[in-house]
Amino acid sequence: MNIIFLGAPGSGKGTVSQIAAREYNLQILSTGEILKNMAHENHPLGLRARDEYWGKGFLVPDEIMLPLLEEEISKTIYQKGLILDGFPRTIPQAEKLEEIIKIDPVINLLCSEELITKRILARMQCKKCNKPYGLNPRPPENRICRCGGEIYQRVDDTEETIKRRLNEYENKTLPLIKFYKERIITVDQDEKTTPESCFDDVKKALDSYLS
Ligand code: ADP
Repeated sequence: MNIIFLGAPGSGKGTVSQIAAREYNLQILSTGEILKNMAHENHPLGLRARDEYWGKGFLVPDEIMLPLLEEEISKTIYQKGLILDGFPRTIPQAEKLEEIIKIDPVINLLCSEELITKRILARMQCKKCNKPYGLNPRPPENRICRCGGEIYQRVDDTEETIKRRLNEYENKTLPLIKFYKERIITVDQDEKTTPESCFDDVKKALDSYLS
């Protein structure tokens, strides 16, 4: 099974993918993580992508993303099935993906703009194990994860970039809902949603879709 998690920034794609990957024994392919790791390792393309695009709230252009995805997805770890977190984000990316693997289904995580903004500003992550923190669960006060890793805030999670990211999402990513039409499963969220309750809804929707 190859699943896509679609949704605006802050809608929970990364967090819910981590739970779903464990439950369904799938490998996560997160293009956001790949880009961040490339910048962290001082890879020239990774630094350019951060300084010119994602660090400012813009999508990284398809000319960079398409070859990156093609190279990554060819790795054997993805052969048993994968969850795509953050790819595709544009129609050309979705078209490219159709040529490479069979995608079914596409989970669309819905969230109000108000909740997204609140979540992004509260969002943090462990440097070592990638455990996500935010409104729920909140990070410990000493900002040290249970694994001993340091908990940090992303450079692109600022008030200034959120508007740009939401704008990019509306213009370039939202058209994918129409592109995937009958393969879309929508899961709605509100203030009370936790990563676990969201995954429960995803699981119910997935199970009935697959049966
Ligand atoms: P979020 O979903 O909160 O935006 P991600 O970690 O998935 O976080 O992505 C971080 C940033 O990396 C995005 O805002 C975007 O600029 C860039 N990025 C990730 N995946 C893609 C992609 N498929 N196409 C273009 N840019 C991407």
